Amino acid sequence: MPELPEVETTRRGLAPHVEGRRITGVVLRRPDLRWPIPREVAELLPGQRIEQVRRRAKYLLLDTQAGSALLHLGMSGSLRVLPAATPVKAHDHVDIELDDGSRRVLRFTDPRRFGCLLWQPPGATHELLRDLGPEPLSDAFGGDYLFALSRGRKAPVKTFLMDQKIVVGVGNIYAAEALFEAGISPLRAAGKVSRDRYALLAAAVKRILAYAIERGGTTLRDYINPDGQPGYFELELSAYGRGGEPCPRCGRALKQAAIGQRATVWCPHCQK
Ligand SMILES: [Zn+2]
Repeated sequence: MPELPEVETTRRGLAPHVEGRRITGVVLRRPDLRWPIPREVAELLPGQRIEQVRRRAKYLLLDTQAGSALLHLGMSGSLRVLPAATPVKAHDHVDIELDDGSRRVLRFTDPRRFGCLLWQPPGATHELLRDLGPEPLSDAFGGDYLFALSRGRKAPVKTFLMDQKIVVGVGNIYAAEALFEAGISPLRAAGKVSRDRYALLAAAVKRILAYAIERGGTTLRDYINPDGQPGYFELELSAYGRGGEPCPRCGRALKQAAIGQRATVWCPHCQK
């Protein structure tokens, strides 16, 4: 599943190819993805210039004066800029045609159709984007912020960290890795983690996400870079996916269990 680093990598890959380009047409090969595609996409986008490509959480927004196309890659989606003559394959659901002198399209491919293409009018905030917590790489997110919001909370700190209302884009892999790096047990109640340890945790989240973005994103499968190359690579994961293996820090066996229905690996010796 594309995580925040893959989405940010996609944004950075697309931006130079689509920003400033005028949309000459929109081809919808099916009426829906996860949800119906609103009629504004095909009616209002043609003729508009893409002013910028933005990311909010794991959503991408193509901003135009008429409004913004709001995209989510779901479980298996990808966005690529291709020559318009590139043959359409199964699961190539949407083409946004670009007038950039070389006849190219922004093509949205999504085999499992958990992705979406929605519409946000100018000046509005789509309901999917309301109630989201701050971006993890922004100054609004930090140890003091986590400490303040967590007081009195009994939920496991891992569940707390993965709550999109608390902070966006910290998926299962990154939560497990950040907790390992900060030495915090994923099972500990969020309200029982000290301010100092939240400072370590927030710093770990930022460091790991920034590193993954720098490396081009990591994922389990299915992700394709804007240039068509597989985007997954070996991020040196310390905990995630390594249940039963020796802890990289102390050598004891890493433990695996489900927390909030998500597989979690941690070291009971190093993480308290
Ligand atoms: Zn250990």
